Parts: sequence; C-alpha cells; structure tokens
Amino acid sequence: MLQTAQEHNAIHTDLAFQRCINPRCGATYEARSVRTSCDKCGDLLDIDYQWDRAAVPSSLKEFEATWSERTNPVRFSGVWRFHELLPFAAQKELITVGEGQTLLQQTDLVGDYVGMDHGRLHLQYEGMNPSGSFKDNGMCAAVTHASMMDAKRAACASTGNTSASLALYCSATQLMKAVIFIGSGKISYGKLSQALDYGALTVQIAGDFDDAMIRVRQVSQELGIYLVNSVNPFRLEGQKTIMFRVLEALRWEVPDWIVVPGGNLGNSSAFGKAFMELKAHGLIDRVPRLAVINAAGADTLYELYERRGVRWNGGNVDMDPIVQYNDEMDREGKKADTIASAIEINRPVNLKKCLRALEFMDGVVRQVDDQDILDAKSKVGAGGFGCEPASAASVAGARMLRREGVIAPSDRVVCILTGHELKDPTATVAYHTTDQQVFNETLGSRGVQKASHANRAVAVPNELDDIIKTIQLYS
Ligand SMILES: *Cc1c(COP(=O)(O)O)cnc(C)c1O
Ligand SMILES: [Zn+2]
Repeated sequence: MLQTAQEHNAIHTDLAFQRCINPRCGATYEARSVRTSCDKCGDLLDIDYQWDRAAVPSSLKEFEATWSERTNPVRFSGVWRFHELLPFAAQKELITVGEGQTLLQQTDLVGDYVGMDHGRLHLQYEGMNPSGSFKDNGMCAAVTHASMMDAKRAACASTGNTSASLALYCSATQLMKAVIFIGSGKISYGKLSQALDYGALTVQIAGDFDDAMIRVRQVSQELGIYLVNSVNPFRLEGQKTIMFRVLEALRWEVPDWIVVPGGNLGNSSAFGKAFMELKAHGLIDRVPRLAVINAAGADTLYELYERRGVRWNGGNVDMDPIVQYNDEMDREGKKADTIASAIEINRPVNLKKCLRALEFMDGVVRQVDDQDILDAKSKVGAGGFGCEPASAASVAGARMLRREGVIAPSDRVVCILTGHELKDPTATVAYHTTDQQVFNETLGSRGVQKASHANRAVAVPNELDDIIKTIQLYS
C-alpha cells in the first residue's frame, strides 16, 4: 500500500542523488546541490535513488488509491500523485500548480489518417497543462528542487514553452523571479505573451535558440541563478510521469509504440528513464518501442542516429561523428528552420540520454517536413482538441512509420501531443486562410506547397438568403 501523508513526509531527500550518465565515470553528487553537468567529466547527470529504501508500490494499480485524495493538491497533481516513483523531495517540499491533468484520447479519424486499425491510435494531450504544454510536468519538479535550494531567481533559454512554464510557476507561487532568454524573431506570440503576462524578465538575444542556450548557461554560472533548461536532471524526473499517466489511461497495459517529437530530447530521454525504472521495479513486463520525430529542418538526431549510426553503445558513445557533424553545421552556417518552432533545435542538449532511451526502447528516429507536420496538425484538430505544429510531428511520424511497415496497423500507438492548439495560432490561421499572401509569407516561404486539408472560411454577403443558402450548400 502507498503511504499515509505522514509516512510520506518521512521520505528524505537522501534517498536521491545525482549520478553522471557516463558509466566509465559514474561520479555521484548530493541531490541537494545545483549542477547541470558532471564535475569530473562534463557529461549529463541523472537523478537516481536508493530504491531499496524507497516506498515503491508493488503494483501500478496502487496509484489508483490516490484518485480519492484529490483534495490534497499534491495528489491532485498528475505528477506528484506518482511521487513514490520520483522521491527526491519530501511531500511538504513539493510544488504544484495543478499540472498533469491531461487526457489520452482514442481517435479513429486521426487513426485513419495514420493508417491504423480502428481503436489503435491514441493521442496524449499534454497541451492541457496549466501553461499549455508538457513542460509543466518537468517544471514543477525543477521548481521544487530550486526552492529546496532556496533559489531566488530561475532562468532558462527557450523556444517558448519552457519560458512560459517557468514564468507561470514563478507567478503562481511567488517563490522566485523568472529570467528567460529567447532568440529573436523565433518565438510564437502565444508563448511570448505568456512570459510577458506572467511578469518574467524577458531577455531577447540577437541570435537563435542555440545561441540563447549558450548565454543562459554562462549567465547562470556567473550570477548563481538556478537553471531550469532540460539539462536540469530534475525536470526529466517530472516528465517521466507522462508515461505513468499514459499507462494509467490504458489501465496499466503497455502500448506498442510511444511516438514523440524531438527537440532538445528531454522528453524522449525521460520516457526511456521511466520505462527503465518501471522494468527494474518489476512494475511492467515489457517495454514499448520509441519513435522520436525530428522536423526535417532540425534533424540532428535523425542524421546522427539513422544516417551516421551513432549509438548509446552501453554508454560508450562514439563522439567523433557528433563532433564532425557539429563542425559541418558550423562550416555551412546551417541554422535550424521549421514551422515547428518548439523543435527548431540543431544541438539537442540531451542527445546522449536520448540515445540511451532509443537503445532501451528499441527506438527509431524519423524526420518529417513542414508540409507533413501541418497536414497532420489539421487532422489532429479535425479529430480532437488540436495541437501546436511541433506536436503534430508525432502524428506525421507515426504515419510515415506506418507506411514503411515499421508500425503495424494493429499496433497500439500513443502519439504525444506536446503543446496546446492556441500556442501558435499564426500557423493554424495561415494554413486555413483564403489569403494567398498570408499563406505564402508564413508557410510558402518554408516550402509548404498547399494546405491539403484546409477548412476555409466562406465569405458571404450580409443577406439572410445568402447566408441560409451557404449553410445548406456546405453542411
Ligand atoms: C519543448 C517542446 C518539444 C520538444 O521536446 P524536447 O523534450 O525538447 O525534445 C516539443 N513540442 C513542444 C510543444 C515543446 O514545447
Ligand atoms: Zn562524469
């Protein structure tokens, strides 16, 4: 049985520690310390636990008992109701704004588009989070750790959703001040408006996301500001719970595929870690396969994994092809470019962790172009609650894998929809517009030829007869 609240508070942070992901180094550090890389070798860090001392339930079904504790904000949270599987803080230290109330929707309209048998395609709507993207799953964990460390300021570089999420946690809790770094001209209005409205200090760098990322690391170091980018290993702990909720919605049955868009690769890394731990605990008997979907205009993972054969290789990642590819991008002045701004990233910081996830989950990587992304997005809208462009890469990727025969029509597939429909209305309106100039400026310039499933507004004179005729004609 899960613990009572009192027993729960006795979970001490010394159950948790930070560990270098490089097995040849394996250096460990206290959980109550602020770091984004290993002091010894510079590699990424994981949060790990002394599981034998933790209160891991003997069956995932035990979490159903937490449903009746919804008046406790910590159990209401779709992240913290799985606290036993990420026990790095005591219950009284947990910070929540009600994240993780998300939905797994089964949809045959989108399923038909992907090419699935009926009943087999599911969409996990992480856009239903308080700030409108899956980032809240990780941000509540990072802000919890930041407040354990008494941070007064927290910073991130962002293509928009990380900053919106951080800004919301800071405004809603008043625990610390948000400092966000964005590249110029690359952020959608939905996301920028959130950072501004929530009162974050918003620093716009004359450069792209990759530039902003370098600067925020330097500035955080210099000023001792708590960094919440996805190099922050606590964030990934929170993001594990997306998988726990998917399993919960499937009545604890493991699907065949998890399909997720890949940007900085925090989500895919967290999913891999979630399944590694569930398997090690004996809470699941098999592991789903993972598909990470890049945008064609930001396809570093695809290039390295599928074309140049880079693998986790038990932790011995061959760095030569990675260094070589980065040099090539520098030489050619190659900049990420896609309508899916949330994954418009050429140097994914969690690359190695994602390689580990791909190994554990027998993963594949694909790239889809902006045309496919927007067409898939229109289907997600027509068959459900909609999503922002980056999210639709998962559906476009599933369709590609279905066509290749990698995904079978009878497989049970879960596509993660990472962000809310209203994050980027510019892209949506440009897709459905009748104004060719608007289409060209926003989408045509990116190589999108046509809006294959556009739902165009119908212009009608302001006459009752005409309006009635139009409705009869079109519906
Ligand atoms: C951040 C983000 C992504 C990319 O996720 P990573 O964990 O960085 O790979 C995809 N979609 C949306 C909407 C995002 O906000
Ligand atoms: Zn190390």
